[in-house]
Amino acid sequence: MRFRGKTALITGASRGIGAATAISFAQEGALVGINYLRSEREAREVLKRIEKEGGEGILLKADVSSEREIRYAADTLSEVGGGIDILVANAGIYQRKKVDEITAEMWRRTLEVNLTGAFLSAMAALPHMRSGAMVFVSSQLAFRGTPHGMDYAASKAGILGLVKSLALELAPEIRVNAVSPGYIDTDILSGDTPEKRRRREEEVPLKRIGRPEEVASAILYLASDDASYITGVCLDVNGGLYIH
Ligand code: NAP
Repeated sequence: MRFRGKTALITGASRGIGAATAISFAQEGALVGINYLRSEREAREVLKRIEKEGGEGILLKADVSSEREIRYAADTLSEVGGGIDILVANAGIYQRKKVDEITAEMWRRTLEVNLTGAFLSAMAALPHMRSGAMVFVSSQLAFRGTPHGMDYAASKAGILGLVKSLALELAPEIRVNAVSPGYIDTDILSGDTPEKRRRREEEVPLKRIGRPEEVASAILYLASDDASYITGVCLDVNGGLYIH
């Protein structure tokens, strides 16, 4: 129960890594703000599961790329929780387009959700945080690049600059870190053929795709007092897929 009495805002918590993270925080005692945009039914399922296990959460519909919407979501959570202790900026999209397919509009949308959305989430939470921690979700592709998604890789590399700068600026009250997941079993990989999935598993030194709960546990660690002397880092959760 590392987060008893704490309030955590998790963006993109209706599915995948964000949903697992919201459930894990609630299991450890936090009141969680479950942000979502389109997947209302899934977000309700996350809340139902949390409440069934005796935890507490509230649903917060907001597009992270809208300053007004994410600010309203943070204000609402803060009012219920008496402030915000933890922000997990997780919401993200991956359009998986090649260089000759990606339009300026697609590029802008990816940057708007993944990078500007992370910035706006931090700015929305910050006025409610006297102390605590922020964790941003980057990607291994921030380091490796990818032949199908330069917009995505650029947005995730941008998060690393945001994290390092915020870590310097918000110290000593607020610690700011990132995780960079490798291949994780969420809807992002749902387009894979069985053959493609086998190739991914083979590529990973630990020989499997990661589970959303395994990213969640790294996020909880960075947000907890167990990481009390850690700020400005990016923790790889990738089964050894990319070793710096
Ligand atoms: P996912 O299953 O597709 O879930 C994405 C989440 O982001 C959903 O809850 C979605 O909410 C939310 N979202 C998308 N656009 C949003 C917006 N504009 N405003 C608010 N919420 C929004 O993806 P995932 O795999 O869990 O990914 C979570 C994070 O991990 C992303 O940042 C992703 O880039 C990163 N990541 C994932 C992997 C992987 O292999 N899975 C690897 C590296 C990094 P709605 O459905 O309600 O709209």
